[in-house]
Formats: sequence, C-alpha cells, structure tokens
Amino acid sequence: MRNTISGRMVAGPEPPRRRRKESPPAAGGIDKGLFRQVLGLFATGITVVTTRQADDTLHGLTINSFTSVSLTPPLVLICVERRARSHEFIAQSGAFAVNFLSEQQEIISERFSARAPLVSSSFEGIPYRIAATGSPILEGCLGWVDCRVWATYDGGDHTIFVGQVEALGLGEGSLPLLYYRGRYMFVEPE
Ligand SMILES: Cc1cc2nc3c(=O)[nH]c(=O)nc-3n(C[C@H](O)[C@H](O)[C@H](O)COP(=O)(O)OP(=O)(O)OC[C@H]3O[C@@H](n4cnc5c(N)ncnc54)[C@H](O)[C@@H]3O)c2cc1C
Repeated sequence: MRNTISGRMVAGPEPPRRRRKESPPAAGGIDKGLFRQVLGLFATGITVVTTRQADDTLHGLTINSFTSVSLTPPLVLICVERRARSHEFIAQSGAFAVNFLSEQQEIISERFSARAPLVSSSFEGIPYRIAATGSPILEGCLGWVDCRVWATYDGGDHTIFVGQVEALGLGEGSLPLLYYRGRYMFVEPE
C-alpha cells in the first residue's frame, strides 16, 4: 500500500516499531540510532545526483540532502558520504546534476541507492540526455539543475559540495517522490 499525504492529512501504515539498536555514541555523546530516528522525521524530496567521468562513464546516486542555497549567484548544495564511490567521481569531474524524482521514479531511487539488484550499468534501461556539464538528466523527473562545483566543505563523514547552477529545467513528472521516517511517501492530489 502506498503511503499518501492528502492535503493536510497524513495517511498510510504506521512504521513498524523497531527496537532501537545499541550503537556507540557519536562524538558529543549523541546516540547514533536516536540521531537517525529524529532526523528521519524531517520529510524531504528525493533526488538522483549524476556526473560524468573524463572517460564518459556515467554515475548516479540517490540523495535527499539537497538544499537551495543562493539566488545570486545561483547555488545549491548536496552532502555526499566520503566512502561512496560517487564522492570521488563528483570531486574528479567537478560537476554534477541534481534530478528531482517524481512519484513514478521510486525504482530509480532504489537503483541509485544500490538497493536494487545489481545490473551491469546503473543507467541500463533508464532514458537520459546529457546536460551542458556532461552530467545525465533523467527523463521523467520533476525538474533538474546542472552544476559546476563552486566550493567543497568538510561535513564530518560527508563532504558538502556547493554547486553553481549553469542550466536548469522542468521535467515531465508532476508529483514528487517523498522520503519520511525511512519510507517512500506520495502526495495524493485533493
Ligand atoms: C532516500 C535516500 C536518500 C539518501 N541520501 C543520501 C545523501 O544525502 N548522501 C549520501 O551520501 N548518501 C545518501 N543515500 C545513500 C546513497 O544513495 C547510497 O549510499 C549509494 O549506494 C551511494 O552510491 P555510490 O555508488 O556512490 O556508493 P557505493 O560505492 O555503492 O557505496 C555504497 C556504500 O558502501 C560503503 N563503501 C563504499 N566504499 C567503501 C570503502 N572503500 N570502504 C568502506 N565502505 C565503503 C559506504 O557505506 C557507501 O555508502 C541515500 C539513500 C536513499 C535511499
């Protein structure tokens, strides 16, 4: 069953009560499990961040740590785990595109978060076109921004990549794919 948000009403099954795993406290004495639980209450959209290597290899990863930063200059940011392969790829290419996923694209979110069974290429069977920086734009997304890396900042076990927007556009999708308490959520039009 789909979890839906209809107007101001939130419907859908209550997430199963999970026993909180004992995890070593993070620096500052914050319990990591509780950190994840509390931060999971902040509902977000979902994006796939894409980039192209010098040898034309394409990469993508699912990200919800996306924020619009500045209008002048036009800046956005993403936070990428240092251990993820995409971290190196974005750092090397110096460019990335952010694709805002539509409700039809749950399977694409799974594909690029390595949750789906592995296929030979992450982009196999996924229609896309190449933007000005060389990064792929996924067909069917809600909208997209194509960026050059403008600055990077230390974000603990993540790196904060700030991108200057060089091009952007509206996609074909109409309703967003949402993420809340570790689950996909959907907007039900009134
Ligand atoms: C809704 C949603 C939102 C997400 N938001 C974010 C986000 O904002 N930022 C983010 O960074 N990720 C986020 N993720 C997770 C991200 O999509 C996955 O970690 C994805 O697999 C990264 O792809 P990759 O090919 O870059 O990394 P992969 O190379 O597939 O790495 C996957 C994981 O393996 C581990 N790993 C990889 N290399 C090493 C290594 N050398 N040593 C030890 N461990 C290693 C890391 O834990 C890494 O995250 C999100 C996932 C979902 C479902």
